Amino acid sequence: LSTTDLIEEHRICVCVRKRPLNKKELTIRDLDVITIPSKDVVMVHEPKQKVDLTRYLENQTFRFDYAFDDSTTNEMVYRFTARPLVETIFERGMATCFAYGQTGSGKTHTMGGDFSGKNQDCSKGIYALAARDVFVMLKKPCHKKLDLQVYATFFEIYSGKVFDLLNGKAKLRVLEDGKQQVQVVGLHERDVKCTEDVLKLIEVGNSCRTSGQTSANAHSSRSHAVFQIILRRKGKMHGKFSLIDLAGNERGADTSSADRQTRLEGAEINKSLLALKECIRALGRNKPHTPFRASKLTQVLRDSFIGENSRTCMVSSSLVTARGHQSIPSRSVKELTVDAN
Ligand code: ADP
Ligand code: MG
Repeated sequence: LSTTDLIEEHRICVCVRKRPLNKKELTIRDLDVITIPSKDVVMVHEPKQKVDLTRYLENQTFRFDYAFDDSTTNEMVYRFTARPLVETIFERGMATCFAYGQTGSGKTHTMGGDFSGKNQDCSKGIYALAARDVFVMLKKPCHKKLDLQVYATFFEIYSGKVFDLLNGKAKLRVLEDGKQQVQVVGLHERDVKCTEDVLKLIEVGNSCRTSGQTSANAHSSRSHAVFQIILRRKGKMHGKFSLIDLAGNERGADTSSADRQTRLEGAEINKSLLALKECIRALGRNKPHTPFRASKLTQVLRDSFIGENSRTCMVSSSLVTARGHQSIPSRSVKELTVDAN
């Protein structure tokens, strides 16, 4: 059975990825609370305390389509998640791949690539790997004769507003016509001929995303980044792949923040992640009423959720230690299992 066959049965694939413990977590001997005992099971060991103050670990097991342990490379994660969706866009379908999880759990590493060292390498992220395979597929004789053109867009949704990362963060309007077709007005769609063209755009977009920010993570944890690969035939859309580095799902905590702006941002992120869950649920069950308009994110992705040939995968990166993060890992893991399956 190929990975394509496996995913073919489901329009949604939900996975969890565990990142390795970082230097700091290792130095302070922080407790590793996640284990991946088999390729589709995640165990969360939550430290608890009894009334008599004795401590124990509460173990919970969750099942996913795939669970990737901390030795898994981006290439492997890609092969089982986004790779099968590349086919979808050649078959006139809409594909969407989300990275979901708390800030620091590895969303940008998975989607954008490795930015840990001095040599920022976006060639190993899912954005680039998907683009690489789009160009490989394009060369197949059956696709060659379709004469497809490839385009890319890269934008950010921050506080319910859309900004073009390939055009100096220009603020864009989102319009819905009478037929409920959604358009991001003026979004730059760049013509790309090879993987290198795409890598350049990812670099441009990434630096645009973080420019003027004191900390890359402070900003990206509050915004959704959307990278799209669009196939057109004689100008008409043939297929679209949206790859999304979501805002940190911990932002809800900020709804009680003293700072008004932070509070508003937190509320907006909660709203969009909730709307996203509703839309994904609807995708699996063909619900007639889907709350696309509930957030800018789902509104912009509307066309990717409807239609016969829409497929989605969710790569949830999970937090690994007990102390490093205030929130409970099992809660965020549970959110996914309960809602998406
Ligand atoms: P997020 O985007 O979810 O906030 P990042 O992708 O920025 O998280 O990851 C946080 C840190 O952990 C970064 O320094 C990143 O390089 C590192 N990291 C994340 N995932 C991995 C991984 N699978 N292997 C090695 N380092 C990782
Ligand atoms: Mg990030």
